[in-house]
Amino acid sequence: MSEGWGVENLRTEVVVVGLGAFGSAALWRLAERGVKVVGVERQGIGHPFGSSHGTTRLFRVACMEHPGLTTIARKSLELWTDLGERNGATYVRQTGSLNVGGPESRPVQGARRAAAEAGAPTTDLTHDEVVERFPQYRLGSDDVAVWDPGAGICFAEPTVRAQVAEAERLGATVYPHTMVTGIDVGAGEVTVHTPMVDIVAEQVVVSTGAWLSKLVPGLPLSPRRTPLFWFQPRELGSRAFELERFPSFIWEFDDGRGLWGHGSDEEFLVKVGLHGDESAAAVDPEELDRYIHPREDIAELSAVIADRFPELDPEPVKVAPCMVTDSPDGQFLVGRYDERLVVAGGDSGHGFKHCAGVGELLAQITTKETPFTDVSFVDPTRFS
Ligand SMILES: Cc1cc2nc3c(=O)[nH]c(=O)nc-3n(C[C@H](O)[C@H](O)[C@H](O)COP(=O)(O)OP(=O)(O)OC[C@H]3O[C@@H](n4cnc5c(N)ncnc54)[C@H](O)[C@@H]3O)c2cc1C
Repeated sequence: MSEGWGVENLRTEVVVVGLGAFGSAALWRLAERGVKVVGVERQGIGHPFGSSHGTTRLFRVACMEHPGLTTIARKSLELWTDLGERNGATYVRQTGSLNVGGPESRPVQGARRAAAEAGAPTTDLTHDEVVERFPQYRLGSDDVAVWDPGAGICFAEPTVRAQVAEAERLGATVYPHTMVTGIDVGAGEVTVHTPMVDIVAEQVVVSTGAWLSKLVPGLPLSPRRTPLFWFQPRELGSRAFELERFPSFIWEFDDGRGLWGHGSDEEFLVKVGLHGDESAAAVDPEELDRYIHPREDIAELSAVIADRFPELDPEPVKVAPCMVTDSPDGQFLVGRYDERLVVAGGDSGHGFKHCAGVGELLAQITTKETPFTDVSFVDPTRFS
């Protein structure tokens, strides 16, 4: 294909396509094992056009989405702690997290289930205890909380960059600004096509986020437009929304909607988002509307914030477009899809905290090691 350019085809053991959260971690963990690995990313590393931009993400251990995720979050923490000890950075700030809602709500029940089934240490807080310790909340009359002490926040773009940098230090080759235009999986090898060169490998890991089903047709994924929002206290200089006083939280209301977010004592402000709009239409990521619309994007969230966090100014000070990619059951798709094809995607809005652990799983699956935890609940073939 490349004869007109005088470029030889590349040969390697594994190609990782898409170096966002999951792909950068897979590249790192494969390189750590001494695998000859090439990473290909359509944009720059740590760019703002996929799902992994902005400064922070919530890090939770007692994961309400599935008890099996607790082990993966712990693996991320372990790997990021090791990496941070080597390069002097912090990838997780563990200030604890609140799962708030009625006694039967998903955050409360889900965190308790993770505690019971996966051994995540948690503490139940009564309504009055939450009111006393966290006066920023205007709680519903039945609201209680489950405290997840190992939780906190993690750092999105810096982590993606660090995972790629560590992979390169360990010998991985990285092609940024290179779009993969197609993948041919043959009996003996797989060919990854780019405009300049074909890369021939034994296996490919495809981790292209919202674009995953463009390269691996048939996966039941729905990318959704989901902006990121930042706020500030009404009283400038107020310390009520510093991270230690206003740690990360997920809060579900009686009507099924809810808020998530965390405070900050740094320049990245108070982050709050609304959930409950998972019915929003699936979008083609190539056509994503990157404009912010005051009425459609902001009005509902501002009204909820005015009602629930009266000390916050309900007008956001910063908004950025982003995407989550939903799977039918809200769990990731991580694992082998074909003899030479491993996939990672379907983040369903809660993938970042798990990405280093998922990268380790992807490396183990690709090299045919035994995965460090049960991966049946994220098996990408479970919908076929
Ligand atoms: C508003 C919002 C809030 C969130 N909050 C949290 C949170 O608090 N906690 C949490 O854990 N998670 C959270 N998430 C989810 C988390 O951000 C995602 O799970 C994670 O970023 C998904 O990573 P990914 O690797 O699947 O996708 P991405 O990071 O988007 O990576 C995919 C990469 O593939 C590249 N690519 C695509 N097509 C090609 C191609 N043809 N060739 C080469 N490269 C290609 C893209 O450029 C991109 O870099 C949130 C997400 C959003 C949108």
